Amino acid sequence: MTDLLLVLQLAIEVAFGLLAVRTAVSWIRSPDRRHGYLALALTSLALLILIAPALGGSGAGAQALTDLALVLFLFSGYALVMFRDTFVPISTNSRRWITAGIVLVGAFGIAAQLPADTQRLHGPLQSTAVAAVLVAWTLCILEPISRFWIAASGRRAVEAARLRALSLGYAGIYFVVMIGTFGVSLGQVGTLVTDLITLAVVPILYVSFAPPAWLRRFWRQPEEDQFRSALHDLLLHSPDRQTLAHRAIGWAQRLVGGESAFVIDSDRSILAARGVAADEAEQIATRNDFLSVAGQGHQPWRKDHMLIVPLDLEKGRGAIVIVSGRLTPIFGDDELNRLVQYAISITASLDRVSLNSRIQALERAKSDFLNVASHELRGPMTIIKGYLTMFEAGSLGELSPMANSVLPLLIAKSDEINWMLEQMLETSRLEEGRLELNKRRRDVVEITDMAIDGVKMLLRGHELKVDEPAEPLEAEVDTDRFQIVIRNLLTNAAKYSPAGSDITVSIGRKEGMATVSVIDHGAGISLQDQANLFTRFGRIQNAQNVQGTGLGLWLSREIARMHDGDLTVESEVGSGSTFVLAVPLKQ
Ligand code: ADP
Repeated sequence: MTDLLLVLQLAIEVAFGLLAVRTAVSWIRSPDRRHGYLALALTSLALLILIAPALGGSGAGAQALTDLALVLFLFSGYALVMFRDTFVPISTNSRRWITAGIVLVGAFGIAAQLPADTQRLHGPLQSTAVAAVLVAWTLCILEPISRFWIAASGRRAVEAARLRALSLGYAGIYFVVMIGTFGVSLGQVGTLVTDLITLAVVPILYVSFAPPAWLRRFWRQPEEDQFRSALHDLLLHSPDRQTLAHRAIGWAQRLVGGESAFVIDSDRSILAARGVAADEAEQIATRNDFLSVAGQGHQPWRKDHMLIVPLDLEKGRGAIVIVSGRLTPIFGDDELNRLVQYAISITASLDRVSLNSRIQALERAKSDFLNVASHELRGPMTIIKGYLTMFEAGSLGELSPMANSVLPLLIAKSDEINWMLEQMLETSRLEEGRLELNKRRRDVVEITDMAIDGVKMLLRGHELKVDEPAEPLEAEVDTDRFQIVIRNLLTNAAKYSPAGSDITVSIGRKEGMATVSVIDHGAGISLQDQANLFTRFGRIQNAQNVQGTGLGLWLSREIARMHDGDLTVESEVGSGSTFVLAVPLKQ
């Protein structure tokens, strides 16, 4: 039995010793008041447990040891109150009173010469001194237990769990000391039971005061689950950088339990702030010059009660600054690692949003250019075309045979330009939502023939075959826009197939749709390129030496779809392409 008790006593000493060493190491790593008081409290408790077996006996040495134990005991209580003060501050006056009270009780205990031999009977003064010491210490512990528990309510998951754990830790210490004090008087069995209970409480103290990574992960779990689903939305659907940054720091705060946070952009402006006014955040940022220091590495770093997470933005270094309030947990290494990963996602997203807005601005500029250019060029081109036609008709007098011979080419080229301008105009109309169809019931065969007539000049180098039904195919169409599509398909067929090759236009009906197929035996389009064919300005390899805007097919498909139809392609490199325009038939 005695051996067992000795082993248990040793185990308790080792366990408390390790706990003290662990908190002392954290203090050395983060030398602030909070870590310091915790290390002092647990070290004095560990020392007390260590010297406890040596207490007893008589003589000046034994008395000095008893007094030392008394001082350590009260000191542990004092350090625990001060540790609590770093979370929930005590007023300066109260702090003075507590310090004075502890010193007085300690002095009283020493003056009363508490007997070194615990079995000896206490005199009335000594009993009062023991009671005073126990009451003082109890107050130092019981108050934080309730204070932490109350402070936890209404807080976010990580903070609340941390505060409750602290409350539990204080309760654990109280329990250990109380049963240790009274258990001794219960004989060997009593000591055995109290030792076992003490050992069982040690793990609770570990997780409360130095929460391991797995426990912090567990605390974060409820936040993490929500976080994962929110991150996707956050990263993909934030309309601008401010909104993204604002949402991002909200989550950064929740993940590590910060009280306020802000984001510094690469130009040192405050992109977003939470829990702190933007101008205040700016002052903090200017005072601390986070970005210059952040330039030294990618890792988050601490300054005072702040955690700085560098953001490697495309335009330069930025940072997320999380301010840990008094009630927030001590940031652990795994929180920091989590934040590093988080910062990488946020950096990429912030850059993506800037890139998006830059692309949008470019797109707008492109549309504006299309609009202006097509409008401005149309007037002069109409005049040029008009005069060329008059020359051709001879209304402006006789031209030399040489001049006459180039006229058809000039007219064909001006038609080409006019056609491009028309595409550009329609495109800018479509982009601005101004393209409205003027649909009427028309015969698709007839308007396709009209469209073919309009581009016959451009198809002169090819063999054109038209395969059409004798009866009309009626559909609700905007004649002009429908002809734009046919003209586009025909000019493309001519442009992208060798001179002299066949071009076939085949008109028919299929599954309630009127179809116009334009078939050529030209370059053909690979499957891969077909994916880019109907995009705005989408031109592919085979178009390198051919004039064009890359707008025609995009515009044509949009027009087809506005008719509730479609424009599709089947093509094979080297053997040619078939484009099919389909619109619903009118019964
Ligand atoms: P553009 O002809 O003005 O370049 P389009 O939008 O009409 O623009 O066509 C887009 C691209 O698709 C063309 O640049 C060309 O590379 C390819 N293309 C279109 N029609 C054909 C075709 N019949 N045969 C081969 N390639 C074609």
